[in-house]
Amino acid sequence: MHRCWVEVSLSQIARNFQAVRDVVGSNVEVMPVVKADAYRHGSREVAAVLANCGAKWMGVSSVGEAVLLREAGITARLLVMADFLPSEREALFEYSLTPALHSLEDIASFEEMARERAVTAPYHLKIDSGMGRLGTRSAATEIHAAVASAVHAQLEGLMTHFASAADYISMQTEEQIAQFRSITTALHGMGVHPRYLHLASTIAIAYNRQEAWGNFVRPGHAIYGYISPARGESPPRLLNVSPALCWKTRVLAVKDVPKGAQIGYGGMFRAPKPMRIAVLAAGYADGLPHGMGNKGRVIVHGQFCNVIGAVSMDLTTIDITHVEQAKAGDVVTLLGKEGDASIDAQQMAKMAGEISYSLLCGISARVERVYVD
Ligand SMILES: *Cc1c(COP(=O)(O)O)cnc(C)c1O
Repeated sequence: MHRCWVEVSLSQIARNFQAVRDVVGSNVEVMPVVKADAYRHGSREVAAVLANCGAKWMGVSSVGEAVLLREAGITARLLVMADFLPSEREALFEYSLTPALHSLEDIASFEEMARERAVTAPYHLKIDSGMGRLGTRSAATEIHAAVASAVHAQLEGLMTHFASAADYISMQTEEQIAQFRSITTALHGMGVHPRYLHLASTIAIAYNRQEAWGNFVRPGHAIYGYISPARGESPPRLLNVSPALCWKTRVLAVKDVPKGAQIGYGGMFRAPKPMRIAVLAAGYADGLPHGMGNKGRVIVHGQFCNVIGAVSMDLTTIDITHVEQAKAGDVVTLLGKEGDASIDAQQMAKMAGEISYSLLCGISARVERVYVD
């Protein structure tokens, strides 16, 4: 009996992956992103399912994440997307990882390493088309010179990443696509033809921004069942996915408090009437957002119950005045569905002033993970 756990549906992960594949069609390679422990769904288990479904590529952030998957027996191509430290370079070769390189100096040093080892080593080059984070801002002629002077290091993909994909009011995505195109077209003219061109993560797939699909897409959030809402007038959504994770805890104690009782740190909540409260076995050390204090809600016996008082490290207090049958040991749904009542990560994040991505990634290591079909 766990205090706090998540139930991850691996068949739902498989269905979400297939839904992305159906939308982009068979000419576009789908690389599911399993970074950050598969958005806390468990990267080993998720990657094993995706490999079974035929995923040829998977995206991770770091060398460490990739090594974990290799050690778990994952043989798919692994693209390391969020750069690496000098001390991690050796492992790129040792574990057959494919780096996204971010500068022309990166290409030269990757070439040097491949030459020393007498191997050919593929890499993807990230273009900073306007995100202003990782990626090269060099001109096409300079990129061409760097790519052409490498013999062992071979350009396999050109990629970029959007800053405002869900924002249909801003023109930033169109500008980024145009900037990326100008580089790829110029390189094409100079005889550089990488096998893959890729720009899109979940949002550009889901809202049918086909000009950004290239022949390779990088969905993360959608694999776990989420698509962020668009801002402004977006085209209709093409993609339908469902959350693969439910998050649960238990009632530790139930008690009645009189009118005027203060609840929790800072006396943040004061009972306006006599109330029955439940103390839950989950807090911010489990990843429940502190911002849910006095704001969030959870589901007990199929009914919504408000969080009252502060979310503390290990405990959270809720109002169960209207749920007479609630007792110690009962299961409480933090994320998921009970009958007609449901809460997903976007709703919880909104209540807490966060985003669904940070909420999922914040589910802590202390939370047990249970796999269900
Ligand atoms: C995380 C990440 C993705 C996946 O983004 P989602 O919005 O979760 O689909 C794709 N590409 C890069 C470079 C990323 O870092």
